[in-house]
Amino acid sequence: MFAPPVNSTVLSFEDARRVVEDQAALIRGSMAIGDTESVDLLATAGRVLYEPVAADRDLPPFPRSTRDGYAVRSADLVQLPATLEVIGEIKAGETVEKIPANIGSGQTAAIMTGAPVPDGADAVVMVENTSLDGRHVVVTRSVIPGENIVARGAEAREGAPLLDRGLRLNEAGIALAASVGRIRLQVYKRPRVAVLTTGDEIVDASATPGPTQIRNSNSYSLASQIRHAGGEPVLLPIAPDELQGLRHLIEEGLKADLLLITGGVSMGRYDLVEQALSELHAEFFFTGAKIQPGRPVVFGRCGAGAPFDKLRAGSSLEKPATYFFGLPGNPVSTIVTFELFARPVLEALAGQSPRNLLFLHARLKKEIRVKTGLKRFLPAMLSGEFERSEVELVGWQGSGDIAAIARANCYIVIPEDRNHIPAGEWVAVMKSNC
Ligand code: AMP
Ligand code: MG
Repeated sequence: MFAPPVNSTVLSFEDARRVVEDQAALIRGSMAIGDTESVDLLATAGRVLYEPVAADRDLPPFPRSTRDGYAVRSADLVQLPATLEVIGEIKAGETVEKIPANIGSGQTAAIMTGAPVPDGADAVVMVENTSLDGRHVVVTRSVIPGENIVARGAEAREGAPLLDRGLRLNEAGIALAASVGRIRLQVYKRPRVAVLTTGDEIVDASATPGPTQIRNSNSYSLASQIRHAGGEPVLLPIAPDELQGLRHLIEEGLKADLLLITGGVSMGRYDLVEQALSELHAEFFFTGAKIQPGRPVVFGRCGAGAPFDKLRAGSSLEKPATYFFGLPGNPVSTIVTFELFARPVLEALAGQSPRNLLFLHARLKKEIRVKTGLKRFLPAMLSGEFERSEVELVGWQGSGDIAAIARANCYIVIPEDRNHIPAGEWVAVMKSNC
């Protein structure tokens, strides 16, 4: 009575990741033109850069003092203490006319952090190593040539590329764009990601559930993850565990740039997602991964046609294949499988360059015993910082336990060949990729 799986292909975690990365690379390769928009620099956090950013002039544009002190000729400080004549003062932003044309031998100029170092001087001695005596300064420490100066163009030459296409902008990239005057940036548009929740027991979160009904939480966790990953969630109505209705809503979802289906991918009699997809001539890359939570995760695509860029440029050509994921319905499984598998595909559709999962290491507080054979991503609590990082599992009732994952702030990653991790061992910890 149980529906046979569609050409069941269960991969190891690593193989499943490779399949996802390969498809992500294909997506990137076909997005040459890209659907882009111009955005105010202040609103670009998390957006993906389309038009590269280059240096509009040398950075820094002048030899920059990195200290408050005195601009000197280092050769004048071979014998200490050295007494130098102060011929001027250079503050940050000083106009060119007010900067001494040259620092001669035996001379110096007071200089502030961020000010241009005048010709003749080849180093800056920190004010802490000097004492001022009228028009002279006594220097008590020598400097090597170049000390406390960043040479003109040392950070970047005029025209040099600074930020590449595909970069997801963070505060550093935004600061760099500002530093070269790019107050608007051309970024990729956010891909539209359809979210289709399935299950006869699932009701809208705003509804009052009957005694055996469950509120839809997966559409909400996914919408949040999609936004964090740079996509625009589009929530479809809840699909029934019935082929025709399911197929109809899947077809609706395939009109988006990516379709995420939750629930209905296990071995149950009413888990019909794969069947509905295969009736729509889907191609399946895998129908399971050896992980916990999330083992029944499905990845594939439906329909074929023109490259992505043609569609995105508004061409009337046939819609390209749409990628889909069938994410297991248990709320923790949905969250974890999105991070591990759906996110890289969404990021590629968003124009973003590939990147690895984020992880760190922490010392295990309490031993863990599990069965071998699955790579596990178990909700955990990370505390302490740096070399004092500690991590322990949060108590949970399995992958339906949303309360547990809400208490957790990371996942302990356990390789599939380990059945016992003793307390005190440094373990890999995955943080979500926000
Ligand atoms: P399924 O993958 O359809 O077998 O569902 C596995 C478990 O996850 C069941 O207990 C479902 O009730 C639950 N579940 C499925 N979809 C959702 C959802 N959208 N929100 C909350 N729980 C869900
Ligand atoms: Mg179900």
